[in-house]
Amino acid sequence: MEPEEKKKKPRISSKKKVISITNLNTNTIQISNPILIELADFATKQKVEIYLVGGSVRDMLLNRPTTDFDFTVVGDSIAFAKQLAKKFKSNAVVYEKFRTAMIPYKNYKLEFVGTRKEVYEEDSRNPIVTEGTLEDDIRRRDFTINAMAVALNGDSVGKIIDLFGGMNDLKLKILRTPLDPMITFSDDPLRMLRAARFASQLNFNIDEICLEAIKQMADRIKIISQERITDEFLKILKSEKPSIGLLILHNTGLLKYIFPELEELAGIEYQFENGEKIGHKDIFLHTLKVLDNVASKTDNVWLRFAALTHDIAKPRTKKFVKGTGWTFWGHEELGAKMMKKIFHRMRLPLDNLNYVETIIRLHQRPMVLVGSEVTDSALRRLAFQAGETLEDLFTLCRSDITTNNPKLSKKYLENYDRVAEKILQVQEKDKLREFQSPVRGEEIMAICNLSPSRAVGYIKKAIEEAILDGVIANDYDEAKKYLLENKDKWLKEIEENKI
Ligand code: ATP
Ligand code: MG
Repeated sequence: MEPEEKKKKPRISSKKKVISITNLNTNTIQISNPILIELADFATKQKVEIYLVGGSVRDMLLNRPTTDFDFTVVGDSIAFAKQLAKKFKSNAVVYEKFRTAMIPYKNYKLEFVGTRKEVYEEDSRNPIVTEGTLEDDIRRRDFTINAMAVALNGDSVGKIIDLFGGMNDLKLKILRTPLDPMITFSDDPLRMLRAARFASQLNFNIDEICLEAIKQMADRIKIISQERITDEFLKILKSEKPSIGLLILHNTGLLKYIFPELEELAGIEYQFENGEKIGHKDIFLHTLKVLDNVASKTDNVWLRFAALTHDIAKPRTKKFVKGTGWTFWGHEELGAKMMKKIFHRMRLPLDNLNYVETIIRLHQRPMVLVGSEVTDSALRRLAFQAGETLEDLFTLCRSDITTNNPKLSKKYLENYDRVAEKILQVQEKDKLREFQSPVRGEEIMAICNLSPSRAVGYIKKAIEEAILDGVIANDYDEAKKYLLENKDKWLKEIEENKI
């Protein structure tokens, strides 16, 4: 948690010093994971009081697979982690500042935190961290379903400690904060986004009072670092039905702060023509349908991102043309161009930028190629420009069919099947998948007496264009012959245009 994200308000934690497990209304859970069993035995022998806490307890109860285990140690978590790491023949990565330690073990990540209490002084933004109790640790967690602990010591192994009704909320599939939501969200506004993320991942509802609190303080998300926001946002995108999380972001007012371009997609504009009121579809809702369709077909988060943003430039290119209706000319090109700024702002990994841009830029093209009179060269060009993204592009196009009319939907899908089939045929014909100028740069330089320069690229492109247009075949001999025939003309053009 970043200190600047904390509120000044002093918070006094419970006076109770130690939690007596036997006093709690507990249920039990069977611990079957061999690593947990080994760890519990070790801690008991070392007389260290330790609990499994948070998301891993939730996931165990929900039977969701998990490889991240978080533990709360009453006392010195770092010393315990170091001892355990030795036993596991691994290393403990220690973060002294946060008093936490992490042990990578097999494909697990074991994280240890000491119980602590954060007290806020009136005149300081930085919390004073002191030793606390298990209850102190649990109170500062985000949601009741993430605020359960499981005892791991001696006879108590498997006892669930549920101070805030997390178990009941799991059953009701509801996200509630352990404390007043205004306090929980104010302490760390990222939790508002986490609410949307968990709702999306788990298909849970958010408690009404929490939703209200989010609506009231949505703007506080502005103080959270972009990395943390993006992390949660991508988790929403990766969830089974991302529209759940995105609708929550929109309805609570969070979306306009974290992805304003998406917020712009929402709503419908109308124009009157000959007394008739003409609207376009709500692009945000359409986008969510496309995104869910893509999500049902692939886990590829960048294809999901492309689905989310494929119409991103529609509001900026929107125009009402009399006799035609609403138009969005050029939205695919402008949309692709908008991506760079968005990737930078959201700190998304730039090696996926080109992929997303390409899919957005080309998402209308397969539809344009549906007609029977389409030429080989048009098909070739699409395959060439799409390159490795071709199959994913078609997945998006198919998902972009959101009509409720099953007959129409079937017809559109068949159209895409036909275009895909024709592309395959052309590709087979000219082995376009491995396409690049069959005459390589070195040879062009030798034949034309050029040093490495843009001129070489110009000639290479001219050869590639001839292949794409079907003037010559994708074949070395033909390409070389074509080069020899045209080189003087091209060299003249290069000189004239100062290339
Ligand atoms: P996942 O691992 O799928 O992201 P998780 O619930 O395990 O889900 P983590 O971010 O790994 O989430 O955090 C582990 C636990 O730490 C949470 O279950 C919760 O109890 C607590 N936690 C994490 N982040 C916060 C936060 N911002 N505010 C309060 N508690 C948090
Ligand atoms: Mg986790």
